[in-house]
Amino acid sequence: MATHETSAELFRRAAAVVPGAVNSPVRAFGAVGGTPPFMASGRGPYLTDVDGNSYVDLICSWGPLLLGHTHPAVVEALHAAAAKGTSFGTPSEGEVELAEEIAARAPVDRVRLVNSGTEATMSAIRLARGATGRGKVVKFAGNYHGHVDALLAAAGSGVATFGLPDSPGVTGASAADTIVLPYNDPEAVERVFAESGEEIACVIAEACPANMGVVPPKDGFNARLREITERHGALLVLDEVLTGFRVSASGWYGLEGVRPDLVTFGKVMGGGLPAAAFGGRADVMEQLAPSGPVYQAGTLSGNPLATAAGLATLRNATDEVYARIDRVSALVADAAERELAAAGVPHRVQRGGSLFTVFFTGEEVTDFDGARKQDTAAFARFFHAMLDQGVYLPPAAFEAWFFSAAHDDEAVERVLAALPEAARAAARG
Ligand SMILES: *Cc1c(COP(=O)(O)O)cnc(C)c1O
Repeated sequence: MATHETSAELFRRAAAVVPGAVNSPVRAFGAVGGTPPFMASGRGPYLTDVDGNSYVDLICSWGPLLLGHTHPAVVEALHAAAAKGTSFGTPSEGEVELAEEIAARAPVDRVRLVNSGTEATMSAIRLARGATGRGKVVKFAGNYHGHVDALLAAAGSGVATFGLPDSPGVTGASAADTIVLPYNDPEAVERVFAESGEEIACVIAEACPANMGVVPPKDGFNARLREITERHGALLVLDEVLTGFRVSASGWYGLEGVRPDLVTFGKVMGGGLPAAAFGGRADVMEQLAPSGPVYQAGTLSGNPLATAAGLATLRNATDEVYARIDRVSALVADAAERELAAAGVPHRVQRGGSLFTVFFTGEEVTDFDGARKQDTAAFARFFHAMLDQGVYLPPAAFEAWFFSAAHDDEAVERVLAALPEAARAAARG
């Protein structure tokens, strides 16, 4: 039955039954003020809310929708899969096909399917610890790997901060084995390995960080991580949950070519349904149950609807799709740069493949401390001016803008037309 309730009414109802009215914090508009529209539908590059407003969608579900909303091949694959059964709890063909598709593109010999990026990184870390018999994990400040207890310790700059939990509920014990280092600082990694290399199971890093805004690895940084971990018998885990199958057919690996021991995937590979994966070297992955002793499992892992949507997405992710996304994202990034400069707003557009972030700071951002120097109030004004003109940006300053192959000239034109007024709004401090 059609609802005639407005977003404001739905938000009130939600707040009475869902903490903060949302099921993932950033959706609540806490960083930009106001309350979020409730979406009724999506089509191609557009979202339509329950109030009847339409928006050019520059979130794309935070990355997964490489082909845009309701791509015919994805919808058709879902209908066909649903008619054959929504879950079996047994092996099925789609899982094999999706694993093969991933292994054909990314540097992994074996793949295990899971349901979220969080599960993928959690499991990869358990596997790295199990395979090496070591306990400590090195991560980088500002790199996000989902809400895994040990990886929520992102605190602190400085050289080597022994992890303090970032969230109540994460115990000191579960954060104590996490070593947090500043991003893009290979000497800090060398030092920590010189001190406690024999205790370190793995280094985990976003292949190209995009969750503090896009902060690409400096030339040679990932290669240096590869070399240091190998020298000390630790594993390198590159997190491609966001970049995988988005920035190229084989993710960030396709742009840089550094071969890690383990890789985590999510977002695009699920085509908008809950699916994620981790994979890597055969000898390490074979340590997983039931081949080996490291336990990992999931009732809905390899779900037939999720694998169908993921396969349809990957199989339709042609060279033209990536070329289109590269082209429109560059066009919009250049225009944002131009309009903010014209309005006199300090800014910095940083790119990682087709991902980019407009930072509201005049200085290059190479790590989390730099990212936090942004004028978030200027971003909030910019965001709301875009929203008022029908463009839905990520509602936080520390995010990438996402495009899909469905972003046609008309949608891009609407974004370009909205930028000058948004830049002026940002300037009205
Ligand atoms: C989104 C993301 C995750 C977490 O994935 P979820 O599916 O939200 O649990 C992990 N790592 C990176 C790099 C991400 O962008």
